[in-house]
Amino acid sequence: MNFDTIIIGGGLTGLTAAIASAERGERTAIISAGQSALHFSSGTFELLGAVDGKPVTNPVEAMDRLPDTHPYRRIGRERMLSLLPLVQPLLSRAGIATTGNHYINRYRLTPLGKIKPAWLTLDDFATFDSPDRLPWRSVAIVNIADFQDFYPTFLARGLRDHGVECTISSTSIKELDNLRRSATEMRAANIARVLDYSAVCNLAGRIKSVGRGADAILMPAVLGLADDLMVSLLRRLVNKPLYFISTMPTSVPGVRAQMMLNRYFTNLGGTLMAGDTVTGARLDNGRVEAVFTNNHGPEPLTASRFIMATGSFFSHGLVATPSSVIEPVFGLDVDYPADRADWFSKNIGQAQPFMEFGVRTDDSWHPSIGGNTITNLQCVGSVTGGCNPIKQGCGAGVALLTALDVTTPRL
Ligand SMILES: Cc1cc2nc3c(=O)[nH]c(=O)nc-3n(C[C@H](O)[C@H](O)[C@H](O)COP(=O)(O)OP(=O)(O)OC[C@H]3O[C@@H](n4cnc5c(N)ncnc54)[C@H](O)[C@@H]3O)c2cc1C
Repeated sequence: MNFDTIIIGGGLTGLTAAIASAERGERTAIISAGQSALHFSSGTFELLGAVDGKPVTNPVEAMDRLPDTHPYRRIGRERMLSLLPLVQPLLSRAGIATTGNHYINRYRLTPLGKIKPAWLTLDDFATFDSPDRLPWRSVAIVNIADFQDFYPTFLARGLRDHGVECTISSTSIKELDNLRRSATEMRAANIARVLDYSAVCNLAGRIKSVGRGADAILMPAVLGLADDLMVSLLRRLVNKPLYFISTMPTSVPGVRAQMMLNRYFTNLGGTLMAGDTVTGARLDNGRVEAVFTNNHGPEPLTASRFIMATGSFFSHGLVATPSSVIEPVFGLDVDYPADRADWFSKNIGQAQPFMEFGVRTDDSWHPSIGGNTITNLQCVGSVTGGCNPIKQGCGAGVALLTALDVTTPRL
């Protein structure tokens, strides 16, 4: 099989690159092994939340204070400013509605009731202008009875610290009785599968009655696995501000975002090889000629261009052995300190050096093997390292913007 572009990895990075390629009319394929970080998403795409441990208000200004190795600095300010406005419309073309902008961070509510900076947040999650002032005097937190992956008391404590009065209740509908027979079945994704039109109508009635009198209702994000139809229906029926709070994984809104991006890509004519793993490649003269996968066996998958978006350790884009850090598909050069003692900090609260490890690339994101550049392969997203998504709050931004950097022509 031959394509213009083959993308290895179908997380946020791979999907963004694939959509941008397919929208330009390239014959594009994604080969993706399995779940991505989107399945654990908080519902917010982060751009830049902190630099040197200090919270960021204006991400575009704060980028200048990042180290030279950070992907944003490598893309460069001018190019960043031309790519940033492309993100929200791309998500919107895939049907993903978000709130926010790249000039000034908004703030979102975590499941523990903390307030964190946010760039683009799914429309059904609450965001605020200020980290200190919430727009509600009182909220009703409504859990689904027996749902274990959501902690209303922590959320309420955090909200009360911000001066918001909270009531906590749980509610149930008969449609969930089957799941409830086994505690292990009461997971967010399973609940979302059950909540169809009639179940949502029942649920709306219950929520309305317990939420009476509150300025807003907060509930766990357990609706809308494939699209946001049931989310919109419930919000419409409840007919007062209703926002979702992320739960323990699996993240229903994250899976929804992944499915909507997948669907948009395939509707554009893209080929999605889901559940397939690239196991090796044939290279010649500094170029990738073909990749090979588990499902296609000896059949070569060829393209003039390859984009690698296999993620970091979490998705096995990088693998740590006792003595080295490797990139398992091509054996690309990886940047990491030789002494293992420098890989991590014993204080788990501190920034962990391994978070910044990644495939070594040139200015155009081309990797190398043994110092020799691969000219038709580019590595983007969290496989490239150079940043700490946890401490800097920049994970989705790096995914989206590096992907757009390699797929958007320069003017
Ligand atoms: C648990 C978790 C939660 C996060 N939550 C957030 C959040 O809420 N907001 C935020 O801004 N950032 C978040 N991040 C940061 C996250 O890294 C980025 O947001 C971004 O989603 C990373 O995307 P990616 O596509 O580069 O990598 P990944 O999402 O890791 O995707 C890599 C994909 O490549 C596939 N793959 C790997 N090897 C192969 C192979 N050999 N062949 C084929 N496919 C392969 C994997 O199966 C996977 O699907 C989170 C990160 C983690 C780990």
